[in-house]
Amino acid sequence: MQTATPTGVDHQVAIVGTGFGGMGAAIQLKRMGIDDFVMLERDDDLGGTWHANRYPGVAVDIASPTYSYSFEPNPNWSRLFAPGNELKDYAVQVADTYDLRRHMRFHTTVMSTYWDDDGQFWTVEIADGDPITCRQLVLATGILSQLHWPDIPGLDDFEGRILHTAAWNTEADLTGERVALIGTGATGVQVLPAIAADVEHVTVYQRTPIWVTMKPDLAVHPVVRRLFKHVPLTQKAARVANAAFIETIGLALMLNKELPFLVDGLELLHKANLFVQVRDPELRRKLTPDYDFWCKRPTFSNDYFKAYTRDNVSLVSAPIQQVTANGIVTEDGVEQPIDTLILATGFTVQDRGAFPPFPVHGRDGLDMGAWYQRNGYESYQGITVHGFPNLFYLSAPFAFTGLSFFYMIESQMEHMKRLIDRMSASGATVFEVKREAQTRFVELMDERATHTVWHNGSCGTAHSYYFNEHGQTRLGRLEPTLVARWRDRHFPFSDYRFEAPRHATVHAGRETLVEIEPSGRDGSLSIG
Ligand code: NAP
Repeated sequence: MQTATPTGVDHQVAIVGTGFGGMGAAIQLKRMGIDDFVMLERDDDLGGTWHANRYPGVAVDIASPTYSYSFEPNPNWSRLFAPGNELKDYAVQVADTYDLRRHMRFHTTVMSTYWDDDGQFWTVEIADGDPITCRQLVLATGILSQLHWPDIPGLDDFEGRILHTAAWNTEADLTGERVALIGTGATGVQVLPAIAADVEHVTVYQRTPIWVTMKPDLAVHPVVRRLFKHVPLTQKAARVANAAFIETIGLALMLNKELPFLVDGLELLHKANLFVQVRDPELRRKLTPDYDFWCKRPTFSNDYFKAYTRDNVSLVSAPIQQVTANGIVTEDGVEQPIDTLILATGFTVQDRGAFPPFPVHGRDGLDMGAWYQRNGYESYQGITVHGFPNLFYLSAPFAFTGLSFFYMIESQMEHMKRLIDRMSASGATVFEVKREAQTRFVELMDERATHTVWHNGSCGTAHSYYFNEHGQTRLGRLEPTLVARWRDRHFPFSDYRFEAPRHATVHAGRETLVEIEPSGRDGSLSIG
């Protein structure tokens, strides 16, 4: 990589997070011959989401041949939609294959990060430890990592057990208990059928119903596994076929203005799923959303609706008034006594202080979170942000391509490689996306957003984390996955400003496209 690394920096690169995003970045660094990096993880082991989320029923809901790295196919998935523990095992296997564990520091919580413009390095402040300095910083913290503790009156007074799905106590035994489940997002949909048979009674408190379509969740026959193992092309074909299917579902979101019937079709699938499983019209009515499909993240299940037809499961759609010492009171005055309260209440996604998940201070002390709150979320191609040199922010605004997290990270790996290669070839030590390039990208995405369900559909009652407090929908990258990949491989270098080492001799390099600015201030820093 850079030949003129200043001394006194702890690591060339620091990566925050050891989930599939952080590991993808680490693999890319290794492929480029960069071994001087550290991976910081607040948890006690690697795997990110798939280490943290251990609630009953946890499973992937994007088919596993697609929900995995293309370069590390796993022929051993037991089901088409693998359970969470297999994802965790897969993460461990990938870490071992690429010798990543020795780079990881667990129980290391990042508190804040600061860019030093004169020294051209980042300082990463951690709880209970000395700060770490690095030339480049990779934020791979995901957007679903800060659990949301609901603000329900009386929650602290509850004398029974509270389990949040994102911090599940795997020792908890719910057998024979009276349970309340708050939250009917993708997580609640998985938890309910997984616990219904064991508990004495479970009451689901639903604020907003969710669109649920069928899940073609089949066990993978051993013959198919052998085929995947010995003829990898077959698994690749399954991956491509599934990817094409998911991209089509994504079109329903992205081209709602042009193809509104696609959303209607997906809603019909939900209604058919519900009709087949629930005979009671009143229950069906309660379980049918009054906002459009895709306004919030839809989910997939074959047994969620069926669970409501059990005698020991009830659905409450009256708003919760308060939690008491022994139960939950709803606004209709009914109190339900319970032993355990399950909070499937998700994550703080675009809330103040959660995006990014800790203070990130860029050039001139610019605070990313504060800037986002004031001006709206921005990035360039979902990975770099003007004002924040040498930062790869893997869950930046616009990062998420609809297809699968792994397609996103593999695109980002391409973007990282291209930038780092170019710096290496020219002797630059700093990159920063230009203001105008970022604005151009944001405007393109905002224009695309006008074609989506979010702008053309009826989303007012969805309570969707896709929308931020400015009403913007800037989490997702609104373009086909292949186009995003192409852009990450071919973005013009002129969209970046490159800077030479401050305290070292610049060598001209072979590349003439790179613009090296020894001063470090290009006058384009108009934000702040
Ligand atoms: P979520 O989609 O944000 O759902 C949270 C649920 O809690 C919602 O039903 C919400 O109601 C409810 N809630 C929150 N605060 C509440 C309050 N104060 N009172 C009553 N209800 C409250 O969270 P999630 O289900 O954990 O899913 C988050 C994301 O994780 C998903 O969108 C998905 O991307 C990912 N996920 C993926 C998988 C997978 O298989 N790959 C599985 C699970 C989750 P409102 O809707 O009314 O706000």
